[in-house]
Amino acid sequence: RHKEKWAATAPRIPATRLALHHFDASYSLHLGALWPSVRAGLLCEQKYGALLNNFAAADHVPEELELLDATDFISEASLKMQQWQRGAAVGEAASGCQEGSGEGRTGMQAEMVTQAEMSPPLCASISSKIKCYTFPRGDITRFRPARPDGLGLLDYYLMDAASLLPVLALNVQPDDFVLDLCAAPGGKTLALLQTGFCGHLAANDVSVSRTKRLYQILHSYVPREVGDTVSVTSYDGRDWDQVKGGTFHKVLVDVPCTTDRHSAMEEDNNIFHKRRTKERQMLPMLQLQLLMAGILAARPGGAVVYSTCSLSPLQNECVVERALDVARAQFNISLHTEDLSHFRTLFQDTFSFFSDCQLGELVLPHLTANFGPMYFCKLRRV
Ligand code: SAM
Repeated sequence: RHKEKWAATAPRIPATRLALHHFDASYSLHLGALWPSVRAGLLCEQKYGALLNNFAAADHVPEELELLDATDFISEASLKMQQWQRGAAVGEAASGCQEGSGEGRTGMQAEMVTQAEMSPPLCASISSKIKCYTFPRGDITRFRPARPDGLGLLDYYLMDAASLLPVLALNVQPDDFVLDLCAAPGGKTLALLQTGFCGHLAANDVSVSRTKRLYQILHSYVPREVGDTVSVTSYDGRDWDQVKGGTFHKVLVDVPCTTDRHSAMEEDNNIFHKRRTKERQMLPMLQLQLLMAGILAARPGGAVVYSTCSLSPLQNECVVERALDVARAQFNISLHTEDLSHFRTLFQDTFSFFSDCQLGELVLPHLTANFGPMYFCKLRRV
């Protein structure tokens, strides 16, 4: 009688299927009726944005992209913001003259006041030096590959345009000391450099092989004199406090996560692979430790942006909530979360946002605007 060796012969369940199974169970609860459309987005080709390289001699590129109907979504948002801020100021004056309810207002005054109510805070600003071109909603044209200029610097970097939102939220100001704690392969590091404002940029990533990719990006996009101002290290970010605590004006903590789009589509390096179960279950703990290290690296008054490319509330809002508690209880550090809801208004033409986050913002994949997922939350050390 032969014994059945079922374990060795049972078909292996692909990690992508395990991922989708997991997402179906948890995200249908979290996103409710939105989940089927987000799921369809995750399973379709993602959209890219072209981050213009301000260091390359590529003055012709904006015109070339505009001829294809692509637009710079950041300068469009900044224009919108200026209009709203002007409208808000006029609206306030108008409502002051009118006194009382909207019923007494003229149509135009009422519209201005409504706009002011929806508009971003007057102090909010969007860094206008970062330029990123995207095709309009529903347009799935692909960008041509990047091309080198006369000195060999590439003209743009193709990336998920939603990845720029955490960088914009950081709002780097002239001469800021900036830490990018989990920096490789370096898309956000490159965007931080495009602001032209980093007094010093520390780019760290524990993975030596991924850090090599970061060096390659710096080499391909940034002149040597600018590259030399970036210090690249390969520490475990959780130990950063032992290196340089409390010194940075701005800290980006773009943590390892379940990379939901990758996990739903690619077998290679998939964190839902059975042998990586423990690693996946430990992610929220690692994320919390990295966020705590980022908080400790920021100086009082400094800002920390936490981001993931996952839809998971356990990796997003729960980690932030827990970090706020730990910072208060164990380190006597008070933090407040900054309201980023104006991002939803400013970037609504480009991205689909989830409207039910409590602390941060979440870009949802959508078939007509297939960016993300991208969660980001801004904390300010008091
Ligand atoms: N910010 C990067 C970008 O925009 O190109 C992407 C970062 S990726 C989401 C997360 C990174 O965290 C990975 O490169 C990974 O090697 C790194 N990482 C994982 N554990 C880490 C740790 N303990 N300390 C520092 N980096 C870590």
